[in-house]
Amino acid sequence: MAKRTRVSIVGGGIAGLALAAALDPTRCQVTLHEAEPDRAASGSALTLWPAATRALRRLGAGELVDRHTHRVSGGTIRDLRTSRRLLPTASARLTIVPRPDLLAALEACVPASVQREHVQVDDPQALEADVVVGADGVRSRVRALVRRSRPERTPTSYLALRGLSDRVPQPDEVGEYWGRGRLFGLVPLAAGAYWFTTHRSTLGPEPIDPGEALAEVRDVFTGTAAAALQVLATARAEEVVATRLWVAPGMARYARGRYVLIGDAAHAMTPNLGRGAGDAIIDAVTLAPVLGSRLGTARWQARRLPFTQGARIASGGVMQLALSGQPQRLLGKA
Ligand SMILES: Cc1cc2nc3c(=O)[nH]c(=O)nc-3n(C[C@H](O)[C@H](O)[C@H](O)COP(=O)(O)OP(=O)(O)OC[C@H]3O[C@@H](n4cnc5c(N)ncnc54)[C@H](O)[C@@H]3O)c2cc1C
Repeated sequence: MAKRTRVSIVGGGIAGLALAAALDPTRCQVTLHEAEPDRAASGSALTLWPAATRALRRLGAGELVDRHTHRVSGGTIRDLRTSRRLLPTASARLTIVPRPDLLAALEACVPASVQREHVQVDDPQALEADVVVGADGVRSRVRALVRRSRPERTPTSYLALRGLSDRVPQPDEVGEYWGRGRLFGLVPLAAGAYWFTTHRSTLGPEPIDPGEALAEVRDVFTGTAAAALQVLATARAEEVVATRLWVAPGMARYARGRYVLIGDAAHAMTPNLGRGAGDAIIDAVTLAPVLGSRLGTARWQARRLPFTQGARIASGGVMQLALSGQPQRLLGKA
């Protein structure tokens, strides 16, 4: 029998779990290193694009996709102060998954043969493996072994708050509300809704106290759309996730020697295209069959890098447009 490739995955979030689930245990001996296996992931949900849901089906998580895919009507871009539609309304089938459900479904796809290490990896170079995959998110330590100069993440001036609400929104409330320096979003779930805000803030950088952040958001969103005010008035600080938005540096490669990057470690972007988690899953599913082959990994990089770096740049552009306060002018609709 051919010798199995020893694969160490640093980070057991969405990217790391998806890769551990996708690797063939007869070909790879996999160790998954996760610093916080019991991490709380409440208060947020993720929109997944069709390519990501197809990748989830390939992993065996089709039931999760079916359970969380439904038709959303009324979703559109609105003006944050007046609720007026800035773009025409479209009804679309969307997959919106609570983050804990996605992590649980990926966990269920990981074979028992994967060895689990509940540790923070401080020195990825010390790992005994043929291949080390950095699935360690935007703060990645493995990134410095692939991009040697300035591998650090960069903060934006913006803070994101996310939460779940029990109330099912009306179709004319659903959508993303854009305003100068602040943004609100409301997305219906199978039961209730997922909401998010982005606003300019000096809180943090980390950790950010959700109570302080929620108070700041309530203040900053005074006088905005009724849907935003209602959601923010009933939000409870202990159920809100508050994070500074960070981005990864631009990358000219995702692999060097035995090190490979996937997910946010490779291309953390602002959330405005709603595709970071989906791209993490697609990275994993497409990398798995070629991992251990230098040529296969180089071909994978040639396919995935332009696409995901393009998404990273485009996402930043959409954030600027959304927060510019004059999207109509910039969209050429004035
Ligand atoms: C406000 C907001 C909204 C978003 N909305 C969407 C959306 O709607 N749709 C979408 O597709 N994406 C969305 N995203 C992006 C998405 O959350 C990320 O792209 C996704 O979580 C990336 O997954 P990951 O596994 O690469 O990284 P992470 O989720 O960051 O996981 C990294 C894991 O590695 C572990 N780790 C880190 N360092 C080490 C170490 N040294 N040793 C051991 N373990 C380590 C961490 O504990 C963590 O579990 C959003 C992001 C934000 C901030």
